[in-house]
Amino acid sequence: MPTSAPRDSTIAVVGDGFGSLLVHATAMYLGFSPDQLTIYGPSADPVSTYHRHAHNLGQTVLRSESESHFLPADWPTFAQLDAVSHRSLRPLLRSIRRKYNPGVLEILTEARVVAQRLGWEQCRVPTRVGWLQREERPDPHFVLYDERAGYLGRARHVMLALGHGPLSFPAPLARAREDPRVSDRIVQAYEAKRYAPGGRYIVIGAGIASVNEWANALAAGAAVIALRRNPSPDEQDLNVPRCLFEARGIDLFQALPFEDRVRFLGEVLRGTAPRRRGWRETIEEGRRSGRFEELIGEIDAAEAGPAGLRVHVGSEHGPEAGWLDVTGVVAGTGFDRSVLALPLMRRLVEHYELPVHEGRLRLRSNCGVPSLDRPESRLCMMGLAANNVIPHGDTIAGLKYVARRFVGDCARAERLRGRGVLDRFALQLSLGLAAAEAIRPLRPSEQIA
Ligand SMILES: Cc1cc2nc3c(=O)[nH]c(=O)nc-3n(C[C@H](O)[C@H](O)[C@H](O)COP(=O)(O)OP(=O)(O)OC[C@H]3O[C@@H](n4cnc5c(N)ncnc54)[C@H](O)[C@@H]3O)c2cc1C
Repeated sequence: MPTSAPRDSTIAVVGDGFGSLLVHATAMYLGFSPDQLTIYGPSADPVSTYHRHAHNLGQTVLRSESESHFLPADWPTFAQLDAVSHRSLRPLLRSIRRKYNPGVLEILTEARVVAQRLGWEQCRVPTRVGWLQREERPDPHFVLYDERAGYLGRARHVMLALGHGPLSFPAPLARAREDPRVSDRIVQAYEAKRYAPGGRYIVIGAGIASVNEWANALAAGAAVIALRRNPSPDEQDLNVPRCLFEARGIDLFQALPFEDRVRFLGEVLRGTAPRRRGWRETIEEGRRSGRFEELIGEIDAAEAGPAGLRVHVGSEHGPEAGWLDVTGVVAGTGFDRSVLALPLMRRLVEHYELPVHEGRLRLRSNCGVPSLDRPESRLCMMGLAANNVIPHGDTIAGLKYVARRFVGDCARAERLRGRGVLDRFALQLSLGLAAAEAIRPLRPSEQIA
């Protein structure tokens, strides 16, 4: 990675994903200038990290709804954009019934339009941040260094938008992945994979990623054993119950003590398993043809076997399945959610003795990092790390909520004169029209809700 010339900024975002785009767009909308903003990260495109995972998963429409978009103000929603672009009322009618989910292609297109028109790339320094130093003089600010301790510049306010930790595997599978005879037979739902027709696969979990893989494997002509730990997974279409996406829900959640919030999150963030038309038909057909079965239990051992892989499935909820011969295992077990799995955060936690409970940093209710965040020089986190403040923190809607609050605080601290109402309106309108124009040539994504 080339070393860049040091750059001082009013607002720096560490991370180059969706979160960075939403902070950047909000800051430009409020009236910060490009030379006041810096984004640190290696990707030339703010959608690339998400896109890689979504592609591996075969995601075609979002699980979030029409309001989750990248334009700085709330309007137009995706359903409205879709309706204008394709001159059809259907997206609006679906959206009213909460049956509209924007297509992945559409949201990527809109995100790229916003990034391009607002100059996201021109504000980016193409490197990872390795260290952040709090300095008090002459005014409170942060000094940023890259991963080889090279000086990157200073920033008055910093948003940490680092995304997820590494993919996580149950311990017996993590160990088996170190055996070269079977390592490529054990993958995560978010990794690239290919199903062999006639093969037999265990898919762990019953969340949206796992259900998606049931359908992918069945569609490829393979057989699926859907393995889950508990007899009754909960069903809900969004990451958290819909009421927690709303201001009142967020307020009630924030009023809980930290430990209660973590416990509550453990219960509501069980993953999501929506009933969707395309998947349901594929799975029912698989069940009828004897290619889909469900098991309750956990894999407690894995080794090489005649079909490729041999796994032992134990259970606390009834008879054990015992040893099974399979072609492969797909784990829908997601990411390591601990803040300590992120190298920069681990260093900050150790050096500044930041309070961590069960892998979660005790953020303030404004997502500020305790002991380092000041009203005149903010240090905040967004995304998954902010889930204990904003329960849907790791969604586009949650990222937008945190971005707005953070940039609003920065604007107050800087006494920003900002854009007038008409100027903002014109900017929003031009972005909306450009997004509609870019979406028009795309084939509308098939709605599966
Ligand atoms: C498969 C999948 C489907 C999803 N579907 C939906 C959906 O339907 N609706 C919805 O609302 N949300 C959805 N989400 C969630 C959404 O993608 C996340 O909320 C969002 O990507 C998080 O944005 P982020 O900026 O926090 O992290 P990311 O977009 O992951 O970006 C973080 C970036 O920071 C970089 N980085 C990390 N450390 C450093 C460092 N030290 N220095 C510089 N850069 C660094 C990383 O390389 C990465 O590129 C989905 C997520 C996945 C994975």
